[in-house]
Amino acid sequence: MTEEARRTRTAFVKPRLIAGNWKMHLTATEAAAFVRAFRRALPPGVDADILLIPPFTALDAVRRARRDDDAFGLGAQDLHWEPEGAYTGAVSGPMLKDAGCRAVIIGHSERRRLFGDTDADVNRKLKAAVRHDLAPILCVGETPEERDAGRTEQVVGTQLRRGLHDVALDQLAGLTIAYEPVWAIGTGQAADVRQVEAVHASLRAMLTAEWGAVGGDARIIYGGSVSTHNARDFFGSPEINGALVGKTCLDPDGFATLCQFASSA
Ligand code: PEP
Repeated sequence: MTEEARRTRTAFVKPRLIAGNWKMHLTATEAAAFVRAFRRALPPGVDADILLIPPFTALDAVRRARRDDDAFGLGAQDLHWEPEGAYTGAVSGPMLKDAGCRAVIIGHSERRRLFGDTDADVNRKLKAAVRHDLAPILCVGETPEERDAGRTEQVVGTQLRRGLHDVALDQLAGLTIAYEPVWAIGTGQAADVRQVEAVHASLRAMLTAEWGAVGGDARIIYGGSVSTHNARDFFGSPEINGALVGKTCLDPDGFATLCQFASSA
């Protein structure tokens, strides 16, 4: 692992990670205003790793609006596996790194469902992320039909195995897995803490069985309608190492409150 990679990975050291996925929201102008409002709302001394994950077009605006002493970093929503080339519309790892990103979401269910990202694509993207010293946030999650059929653990286990296929062990330091049941994303219907704990425990057991120490080190976070009303329930569980947040992260006050809950849990 390079020195830069080691620094990126060890920069994530807090007990919980709170990552705000803006999806296709906020212009660059709005993003700068968000950063100012979020900074005002975030209490000093918050003890959580915090990532703002804007669309590509707002990465630079967030980076410019950010100050060195801000308690939040920058991430991206996706990347292409090639470093450069004829891939119209795509953005590469080196470009994200140059734009100031520390982390990148890979395999979000919206990418899988709406843009056709396969497990093989997810694997290629994950390898590209670690190659370019970006901490991967690998998303896994089952559809409502898969849960009803009792296939949740099998489905997320397969996504995990295929996503990490052939990735060198030392590249997995600092790995984050986001368990995001598809039926809970953007629906206002969050999963129950017990349901999340069961899936996290099975993911951790699989990581430990197949990748040894990585199982203990990886962070497993939950995503799916996390809000200021339910966040404390999730952060109260030792199995849940943080949250990937959609809707609530677009409200600077609400997102700051989530970060505060994560810090004090
Ligand atoms: C997401 O898209 O990753 C997500 C968790 O969204 P929401 O919080 O809106 O359910």
